[in-house]
Amino acid sequence: MNEGKNFLRTIVEEDLKSGKYKEIVTRFPPEPNGFPHIGHAKSIFINFGIARDYQGHCNLRMDDTNPTKENMKYVEALKDAVKWLGYDWGDKVYFTSDYFPKLYDYAIRLIKMGKAYVDSLNEEEIREYRGSVTEPGKRSKFAKRSVEENLSLFEKMKNGEFKDGEHVLRARIDMSAANMKMRDPLMYRIKHVHHFRAGEKWCIYPMYDFAHCLSDYIEGVTHSICTLEFENNRDIYNWILDELDLKLPRPYQYEFARLNINYTVMSKRKLLELVEGGQVSGWDDPRMPTIAGYKRRGYTPESILNFCDQIGVAKTNSMVDISQLEFCIRDDLNKKVPRVMCVLDPLKVIIENYNGYEEIDASYYPHDVPKEGYRALPFSREIYIERSDFMENPPKGYFRLTPKQPVRLKHAYIISCKEVIKDTNGNIKEIKAEYYPASKSGQDNSGIKVKSAIQWVSAAHAKAVEVRLYDRLFSCQSPEGVEDINPNSLQIIKNALVEPAVISEKLDERFQFERHGYFYADPVDYTDENPVFNKIVGLKDSWAKKTKEDKTVPKPQSKKIHIEGEITPMNETQKALFDKYNLEFGLNSEVANTLARDENLSLFYEEALSVIGSPVSLANIVTNEVARELKQVNLSELKFSANQIAELVRMIDDETISSKIAKQVFEEMVKSGENPTQIVELKGLVQISDPAKILPVIDEIITKNPDNVAKFKAGNTKLLGFFVGQVLKATEGKANPKVVNSLIAKKLK
Ligand code: ATP
Ligand code: MG
Repeated sequence: MNEGKNFLRTIVEEDLKSGKYKEIVTRFPPEPNGFPHIGHAKSIFINFGIARDYQGHCNLRMDDTNPTKENMKYVEALKDAVKWLGYDWGDKVYFTSDYFPKLYDYAIRLIKMGKAYVDSLNEEEIREYRGSVTEPGKRSKFAKRSVEENLSLFEKMKNGEFKDGEHVLRARIDMSAANMKMRDPLMYRIKHVHHFRAGEKWCIYPMYDFAHCLSDYIEGVTHSICTLEFENNRDIYNWILDELDLKLPRPYQYEFARLNINYTVMSKRKLLELVEGGQVSGWDDPRMPTIAGYKRRGYTPESILNFCDQIGVAKTNSMVDISQLEFCIRDDLNKKVPRVMCVLDPLKVIIENYNGYEEIDASYYPHDVPKEGYRALPFSREIYIERSDFMENPPKGYFRLTPKQPVRLKHAYIISCKEVIKDTNGNIKEIKAEYYPASKSGQDNSGIKVKSAIQWVSAAHAKAVEVRLYDRLFSCQSPEGVEDINPNSLQIIKNALVEPAVISEKLDERFQFERHGYFYADPVDYTDENPVFNKIVGLKDSWAKKTKEDKTVPKPQSKKIHIEGEITPMNETQKALFDKYNLEFGLNSEVANTLARDENLSLFYEEALSVIGSPVSLANIVTNEVARELKQVNLSELKFSANQIAELVRMIDDETISSKIAKQVFEEMVKSGENPTQIVELKGLVQISDPAKILPVIDEIITKNPDNVAKFKAGNTKLLGFFVGQVLKATEGKANPKVVNSLIAKKLK
C-alpha cells in the first residue's frame, strides 16, 4: 500500500524548511553478522530513498561492535545488496570500529563529568539491581567511586588488565527511571576477542546504545531512522548526545514499523541456523528471504523496491502477506520477459500425417505487451507435450487433449489423438496423433473448435534443461525456524525440455515458460552443458488454495486460456447465473464463471449490484479483491459491506479515484472497516484530473529527462509509457492516467 508521503518524509521536509539542517544525512547501519534480508530492503529503501529524494546522502555503516559474529564476507554481502537495489553510498563504507578511539574519548569525558562510572557487580547482580517495571532499581555501591578511580580503572580495562565480565562502564542516569533502559545503562564491556578489522587492538567494546548515537553524530547524520524495538532506546540516545553538549546540529532518532512477512523468518540469526544446518544450500539459496536469495531466484530490484513502496511506512507493526511480494515480481515480469515453451513432464506425440519440417514465426510477446520479437519455432512429426495435458478418461470440463477432444498446439496446429500406446504396465508411452493442415495458428480456416492451447516442443530440436521448482520454504504462517521447514520446498526436474531458442538465442535471462510461470537462468549453476532454470514465481497466486493437489506434477497455471483440469459441471442455478452474467451483463466467461460457481460471491455481487448498476466494474472488484478476502474469512466476518463496495465502484466509475488507488482504499477497508469515501478524503486520494494541476508535473519531468524527450521525438513512441509512469509516480498514483496520457502526447508532439 502506498501511503504517499509518509511521516518520516514529513519530518524531513519540515526540518529542511525550518533550516534545522542544511542537508539531509541518513544511514543504513547493519551489523555484518549475516546476509541482509527483505526486512533490510525496507530499511535500505527508506534511508537511501529519503537521501536520494531530498538531495542528501545516506551512509552505509557497518555496526561492527559485536566482534564474535561479524566478518568481511557479510560486509561484502551488504554492499552487494545495496548496490543491487540501485543505491549509491558514495566514496566509502563507514565502520563503527573506525570510531573506537573517538568513542573511548567520549567515554572519558562522561567519566570526568561524573556521568559514567566503572561498576564491578557481576552480570546477575546487575540484573537484580535493575529492579522491575513495578519496582525501582538500586544503584551499585561502586557508583560512589571517584572520578580518578573510574579513570584509572577504565584505562586498565582498555589495557587488558582484567578478565571478561570483571568490570563494565555504565552511564549514571537514574536507577528508578520508568524507562528501564535508563537505569544506568552499560556503555562498555570487556571482551578479549579478535575483531575482524581492529584485530587485537581493543579488548573493551562499546554497547549499541553508546556507540550508535555517537557514530551518527560523528558522521553528521541528521535523521537516525530505526525500527520500533528501539523506541525505548531513544531516551539514552538523547541523553548521551545532550550530556556531551556537542556542537550542533545533532541527529535525532525516529522509529518505524519493521517488516514482517508471513511464511518467512526475518532474522539473520535464524537464517544463519538454516545455512549452518544445511537446510538450504547457502545464504543465496533461492528459497531464502535474503536479498541474495531473491536475486539468485530471479527477482528484479524493481520488484523489490516496488514492494517496499507498496507496503508503506507505518508506526505500528503488522504482518504483510507474502503473496504481495509475489504479486510485485509477477507484475514486473508480465510485460517484460519473452514467453517460450517448456515441457516439464514430457509425453511423446507422433503426428502421423505430418512428414516435413517447418519453422514457425512465433512472437515472444502477446499482443497486449508493447514489445516485439520473434523466434523460428521448429515444428516436426515428433513432439513432446506435458503429460498432464492428455487424459484418456477425462472428467467433465477437462479442456485439453483426449481421445475425443482435439487441442491446439500453441503457435502451431490443432491435433487430435488417434491412438494411445502403452507399455506392459499400462502406462501411456506415446500418443499417435493427426494434425489439421488448415488449422495453423493465425491463419486457421479449419473450422475445428478447441477449448485450449497447450505448450509443446519438437522432439528433435528441444534442449534438455534442469528446472528447479520452489515452493515456500516454511509450511506455517509464523515459522520459528528449522522445525517449520517445508520438506517439499524444492523439486528438481532434471530433464525438462525447452524450445531451442531459449538456449541458442539467450534473448533474456528471464522467461515466462507458458502456463508454468516465470523462470530465471540460475546465475551460479547454469552451464552450457547443464542449463539450470529457477522458478521465480507462478503465473497466478496459487498457494492460497493449494491444499491436497498433487505436487509432483506441475500444475498448469494459465489465466487467459481456461485450462484448469478437473472442473465439475455447473448445476442448474449456477448455469442460469452464468448465462445472466455472461450474456446479459457482458462479463467475460472467466469472471462470470467465478461468480456463478461461488454462492457467497454471487450473493455479495447481487447485493452490491442492487445499489449501483455497474455490473462490469463491480464484478471486477468482487472477483478479485472481495474473493481474496473471502478465502480467509466468512461472509459474515467481512469488515466491509456490499454497500461500501458499491460506493467504491461508484468512485471508480465517476473517476474520483483511479482503479489503482481503489485497491489501496480496499486494503484499508479490509483493515479498518471504514467507509471508502471517508478513507479517500482522509488520505487525500482523490484522483487528479485537472490539467492545470497535472501540467506542471509533466513539465518538470520533461525538463528532467531531455534524453528521453529527444528519443521520443525521434520516433521511440514506446517512451510514452515511461513519461506517464513518471507522472503517476510523482503524483503517488493520483493523476488520472487517461488525462496524463493525452496531455503528454500533446506536449511531446
Ligand atoms: P536481524 O535480527 O535480522 O539481525 P537486525 O535489526 O539486528 O536484524 P541490523 O543489521 O542491526 O539487523 O539492521 C540494520 C538496519 O535494518 C536497522 O536499522 C534495522 O532497524 C533494519 N531492519 C532490520 N530488520 C528489519 C525489518 N524486518 N524491517 C525493517 N527494517 C529492518
Ligand atoms: Mg541483530
